[in-house]
Amino acid sequence: MHVTDNEGNIEFKCDFCTMPWSDDRQMVEGHRGSLICSQCLSIAFTEIVHLDSGYAPIKGETCKLCLETDRDGLHWQSPVEVEVIACRRCVKQSAGVLHKDPDIPWKKPADPLV
Ligand SMILES: [Zn+2]
Ligand SMILES: [Zn+2]
Repeated sequence: MHVTDNEGNIEFKCDFCTMPWSDDRQMVEGHRGSLICSQCLSIAFTEIVHLDSGYAPIKGETCKLCLETDRDGLHWQSPVEVEVIACRRCVKQSAGVLHKDPDIPWKKPADPLV
């Protein structure tokens, strides 16, 4: 999310953990200014892609990043805001964006089971 502070500066905060942008917390933008940070993506990618675990959305719940409703499969749920979820496709896509960015040292986490 984009938050304007008292001095009018725009702050970038992860919608999932609500922490602000920093050098070791890079952000990937979804639709309508939603953001997911690299640290959340490390957890989300491991859970969703490697461990094949996650949260099964209730009918009508919307992925915070693509704003699509009722996507199939398990979603990653914010540890802070239970109604903030990301679909598998967005987790994979966002991880891919960060992974490929030459200016960002973040890489997709390795499979913990291998
Ligand atoms: Zn985060
Ligand atoms: Zn999505």
